[in-house]
Amino acid sequence: MDFNLSGIPTDTRGNESLEKVVILGAGPAGMSAALYAARAELNPLVLTGTELGGQAALTHMIENYPGFPEGVGGMQLGELFQKQAERFGARFEFELATSVDLSGHPFKIKTYSREILAETLIVATGASPVHLQVPGEKELTGKGVSYCATCDGWFFKDKKVIVVGGGDSAVEEGIFLTRFASAVTIVHRRDALRAGAILQNRAKKNEKIGFTWDTVVAEIRGKDAVETVLLRNVKTGEEQLQPVDGVFIFVGHKPNTEIFKGQLKMDEQGYILSDMQMRTNIPGVFVAGEVADPHYRQVVTSAGMGAAAAIQATRYLEEQDGS
Ligand code: NAP
Repeated sequence: MDFNLSGIPTDTRGNESLEKVVILGAGPAGMSAALYAARAELNPLVLTGTELGGQAALTHMIENYPGFPEGVGGMQLGELFQKQAERFGARFEFELATSVDLSGHPFKIKTYSREILAETLIVATGASPVHLQVPGEKELTGKGVSYCATCDGWFFKDKKVIVVGGGDSAVEEGIFLTRFASAVTIVHRRDALRAGAILQNRAKKNEKIGFTWDTVVAEIRGKDAVETVLLRNVKTGEEQLQPVDGVFIFVGHKPNTEIFKGQLKMDEQGYILSDMQMRTNIPGVFVAGEVADPHYRQVVTSAGMGAAAAIQATRYLEEQDGS
C-alpha cells in the first residue's frame, strides 16, 4: 500500500484506501460478516467501534450459542469469532466511523484519523441498551447488573431479582426470569405498565412476580456483586434499601444509527430497514444484527444475519464486475 502526503493509506491510484468490503461493528453480526467476506477472498476491513465483541462480550457466559455445550464466555466468543475471521484475511481496526457519505459510489467513511472508500458497506453497529445512569450500575455490570435475561437468567437460580422498566421487554423478560429466580419484583417509575395487555395479564397472574410502582432505582450497591438497591418513590420521595441478588434493566434499546440518519431508511425507532437479503435502500449497503433487528437480539440470529449480509455483498460485487 502507498501513502499520500498526509500519511493516509492510498490505493494504486493515489486515492484514500479503496476497500471492497467495509464492515462497521464487531459484534456477532460484524464478525460473522467478516468471516464470510474473508472466505470470499474480499479481504474485508472491520472498523470495530468502541465495543469489540458487541453486547455479547458483556455477558459473563453464553449458553445458547450452538456448538458450546458447556457455554462460552461472551468475551471469549468474540475473540474466537475474530480469530476465525482473521485466519481468512479479515482485518480489524480499532476505529470508530464518525461519519459516512453514501450519496455516491464508492461510499466514503470517515474515522478520527482517515477517510476510507468502500465498494460495499455492511452496517453492523448494533444497539445499545438504554442505561439508568445511576451510581453502581456501570461498576456492577456483569456482577449482578444485566441487560439480558436470556443470557444471564440462569445465574439467578433461587435468587431474588428486580427488573427495572414497564415496557414489553421488562415484563417479558421478568416472566422469563421466574424460571430461575425465587422472586422477581418489577420496579416501574409509574403506576401503570406500558407493556401490552396479554403480557401484563400473564405477569400479574404469575405468583413469583411482584410490582413496586412509582419507584425508581436511585443506586445499586455491592462490593464484588450486587447486594442492595436504593429505591426511591417518585411521589413521596421516600427511600428504601432493598436486598437483591440481581438487577435486570430494560428501559429501552437504542440502535446505533446516528451517522446514517437521512441516508438509510429507518423505522420510527431508528432501526435500519432492510429486505430479506439484508439490502438497505442504497444498493451496495447491507445491514446485519441488532441495528436492523428489534425482535430477536440473539447472538445466533445476529451471526446469521452477518453471514447473509456478506454473501449478498459478495454477489453485489460479482454483479458489478460482470456489468
Ligand atoms: P419501551 O417500550 O420503550 O419501554 C421502556 C420502559 O422503560 C417504559 O416502561 C419506560 O417507562 C421505562 N423507562 C424508560 N426510561 C426509564 C428510566 N430512565 N428509568 C426507569 N424506567 C424507564 O422499551 P422495550 O420494552 O424495550 O420495548 C421496545 C419495543 O420492542 C417496543 O415497541 C415493544 O413493544 C417491542 N417489544 C415487543 C415485545 C413483544 O411483543 N413480545 C417484546 C419486547 C419488546 P414509561 O412507561 O414511564 O415511559
